[in-house]
Amino acid sequence: MNEMLNAVIEQSGVQAVDLGVEVVATENDVAETTAYPTLDGIAVVMRNPKELSPHPLNETIYGDLKVEDLMIDIAAHGVQTPLHITAENIIISGHRRHRAAVALQLPQVPVLVIPVTDDVDVKDAIVRANVHRTKTDEQRAREYRILKEVETERAKGRQQLAAGETNLKQGRKTLGENFPEACGRQGRARDLAAEVLGWSGKTAERADELLHLVDSYAGAGDADVAAQVRSDMQKSIHHAYSRAKKKGMIPSTAKAESDQHFNKTNDSIDWAGWSWNPVTGCKHDCEYCYARTQANLHRQIFPKGFEPDFREERLTAPRTMKVPKNATQRQRTVFVCSMADLFGDWVPQAWIDAVLTAVREAPQWTFIFLTKNPARLVDIEWPANAWVGTTVDTQARVVPAEEAFSKISATVKFISCEPFLEELTFSRLDVFNWITIGGSTGQPNWPEQQPEWRSVVGLIEQAEKAGCKVFCKPNLKPVWPKEYVVAPDGVGELSVLQV
Ligand code: SF4
Repeated sequence: MNEMLNAVIEQSGVQAVDLGVEVVATENDVAETTAYPTLDGIAVVMRNPKELSPHPLNETIYGDLKVEDLMIDIAAHGVQTPLHITAENIIISGHRRHRAAVALQLPQVPVLVIPVTDDVDVKDAIVRANVHRTKTDEQRAREYRILKEVETERAKGRQQLAAGETNLKQGRKTLGENFPEACGRQGRARDLAAEVLGWSGKTAERADELLHLVDSYAGAGDADVAAQVRSDMQKSIHHAYSRAKKKGMIPSTAKAESDQHFNKTNDSIDWAGWSWNPVTGCKHDCEYCYARTQANLHRQIFPKGFEPDFREERLTAPRTMKVPKNATQRQRTVFVCSMADLFGDWVPQAWIDAVLTAVREAPQWTFIFLTKNPARLVDIEWPANAWVGTTVDTQARVVPAEEAFSKISATVKFISCEPFLEELTFSRLDVFNWITIGGSTGQPNWPEQQPEWRSVVGLIEQAEKAGCKVFCKPNLKPVWPKEYVVAPDGVGELSVLQV
């Protein structure tokens, strides 16, 4: 490639500075680029390519640009088509030409300064400039995401215009003035965006979900899974989607969380049959967090990802959901906010009050609350059907837990030492009814691990002395010595909490 480039550069009279890429344009090359017709009354002007800035969206969608072929062409014929830029010198279209021109050290390139100021219009123009280019389905999915955002914004703009709140009042051009055709279009943002790319709305949405998987797995450090989804997308969107669904990466609609019901817990939650998430998202940032991984993976269920979110529509679930016939204690026990810390400092008191009201109105259920911020539990008047706990994974959490729980009055008070990250020494275990001990499950950035059995025994002994019952989770099995198959007092392999 470099030899070919050099040959063309030599013939064209452009001097190569560095073998292969860096060349300097002659005065003649620059002069030739000035003869362009105007476009819609906008005249072509010449600009130093170094003064122009690529729009970051271009790289987000299309990745790193390879321009060697184009450099050969430009070295031979000059920049044939003017770049489109904004008045602020941001490139709308012509990113590859720009990059090639900079590499060739051209002193000037032809540009058309397009009168757009609105960021939505700029984004739209960037995608539309590349509509006919050969692309991967991943790139098309990224285009779709931008176009959908654009169409959603335009729909809002149309509503504003209809309501008479035109941008003219704010002294700037309206969307309609810049892109009257697009603003006149009606329809769902999804379908309008998909149409530009020649996809059906359903295919486009599936592509977007797959893209989300790619980004989430790549972001979580699971590059292999991200690469697999990418490679499946290359075959077809539908193929990739059904593969991801079969692997459980995309929850079926039936599995999606219903607002009116609790969710069945999986086997990793041994002490509750259900989970209920009227609040989701958490800011504690624990490295081992399972909830964060899930929330970021399943955006259709968690539209705000792991940002705190009040799902008010779920507050009715305790009243509408029926306790199963002949339910065991586990089957009538609900873990509240398994995907959040309801008592984090950032949670508005109104959210907590609303959840507690719903709990009080459903005495047929037992609700388990768990937090890493025990101080916020102290001033609450706990309903009789609430069991209240705090996580103690490290020694630093022991004193705050003991201090808070010595002031709390609740039917059941418990400590969850899961994961059990270091040896723990308590002085007030008597203020708790139960202690649960467990290992940690593996996450993309966190290995599966169990505590040393010696530390577990040390904690059990402290609990026995304080009259606090112990529940050992089955995930301790790898460190569980054979002699403990018949569990010591208070320890159960799968014992269900009883009061
Ligand atoms: S407190 Fe729980 S939900 Fe919040 S980050 Fe830590 S593990 Fe995740």
